[in-house]
Amino acid sequence: MQQYSGFGLLKHSLTYHENWQRVWSNPTPKKHYDVVIIGGGGHGLATAYYLAKEHGITNIAVIEKGYLGGGNTARNTTIVRSNYLWDEASHLYEHSLKLWEGLAQELNYNLMFSQRGVLNLGHTLQDMRDIERRVNANRLNGIDGEVLTTAQVQEMVPILDCSTNARFPVMGASWQARAGTARHDAVAWGFARAADALGVDLLQQTEVTGIRRKDGAVEGVETNRGFISAGKVACVAAGNSSVIAKMVGMELPLESHPLQAMVSEPLKPILNTVVMSNHVHGYVSQSDKGDLVIGAGIDGYTGYGQRGSFNVVEHTIAAIIEMFPIFSRVRLNRAWGGVVDTCPDACPIISKTHIKGLYFNCGWGTGGFKATPGAGHVFAHTIANDEPHPLAKPFSIDRFSSGELIDEHGAAGVAH
Ligand SMILES: Cc1cc2nc3c(=O)[nH]c(=O)nc-3n(C[C@H](O)[C@H](O)[C@H](O)COP(=O)(O)OP(=O)(O)OC[C@H]3O[C@@H](n4cnc5c(N)ncnc54)[C@H](O)[C@@H]3O)c2cc1C
Repeated sequence: MQQYSGFGLLKHSLTYHENWQRVWSNPTPKKHYDVVIIGGGGHGLATAYYLAKEHGITNIAVIEKGYLGGGNTARNTTIVRSNYLWDEASHLYEHSLKLWEGLAQELNYNLMFSQRGVLNLGHTLQDMRDIERRVNANRLNGIDGEVLTTAQVQEMVPILDCSTNARFPVMGASWQARAGTARHDAVAWGFARAADALGVDLLQQTEVTGIRRKDGAVEGVETNRGFISAGKVACVAAGNSSVIAKMVGMELPLESHPLQAMVSEPLKPILNTVVMSNHVHGYVSQSDKGDLVIGAGIDGYTGYGQRGSFNVVEHTIAAIIEMFPIFSRVRLNRAWGGVVDTCPDACPIISKTHIKGLYFNCGWGTGGFKATPGAGHVFAHTIANDEPHPLAKPFSIDRFSSGELIDEHGAAGVAH
């Protein structure tokens, strides 16, 4: 794999940047793979990378119906944090955050990972009690977190309306300093490039239309480019997971909803952290390009269209203006939607299934981007060993029959 460096940049400038190696190849599908991964988003690509790197399984195909990262991976608002409430979830997200901290070096790819911190505002006494409880739980789990007063929040974000006249006065906030943002498509590209270098086939414009089984075990996948035989099939299809599950007669406890985000015109640097409010129901950060990156909750109806409804855009903007009246005359540049797979307990499913050789990583809903390296890492272990990684064990699909749910609605909230 060609190493990227400042020296390389200089060298290529001498030939007008015309001789860069292609970042990944475009192979013809083989007849058989040891592992077929359905879905070329960040999670699918990370799974392939860790399978090849840590488990020595390199005869892998990642099958993507569109282009790599074109699902939720490159549509999300890129917030990365690990301050979830329950032990099981916070350990999983913290595992991921630790991987993020060294990932750009490991992949030799600039992921623009920026630990600019995340604030979660509290507007009522109950918000503040919930914040204190969560920060205490995080600290007991070795995860950084602080409870800030209104004055500390105001000092950190001078443009936030912290006045007592505000409709939803800011009473304080939780603060995770190691949290932040990353460049979403770079994450897909970085994992894709590293997986390709380890021998993984990345098959774009290839749609899985069926899963063949024999005697209770998977045999391979039907695609628009023909049948591909596989020892194991791993589904990482986010909003389309239920569609894939239906191919083998399985019903997943998921609902697919549109989730929207939007960006403004680029502004000079004005906001150097991420500000979220579950109560007012919106969040905002400023990208390195200068745009305000804005998001909120899901659209209420279910659907598979990668777009949402106007009323959600309107409510989201109202929430942002409530908190930041200074943004009232900023113009929006673009709005778009993704399809998120929400689970009843706001936690993911990382699991084997009753079909031998068939695995699912899904149900990340509105908050799986932050988990990309961690989820890929533990899912690869689960597939390679046919046994759940200890961090993935609580997220087995069996929890919906055993009742051992992990309710993270409070920490998930609007707070992606
Ligand atoms: C607007 C928005 C904002 C968000 N904000 C955040 C945030 O700030 N922080 C955060 O942590 N998370 C956020 N998320 C959630 C996050 O984006 C997802 O949880 C995460 O990206 C899921 O990654 P993935 O690789 O599993 O899915 P995806 O990137 O969606 O990849 C799944 C892939 O499967 C492919 N596929 C589906 N069916 C088939 C088939 N039959 N054959 C072949 N390929 C198929 C799709 O084309 C897609 O590329 C947000 C999501 C949205 C939509």
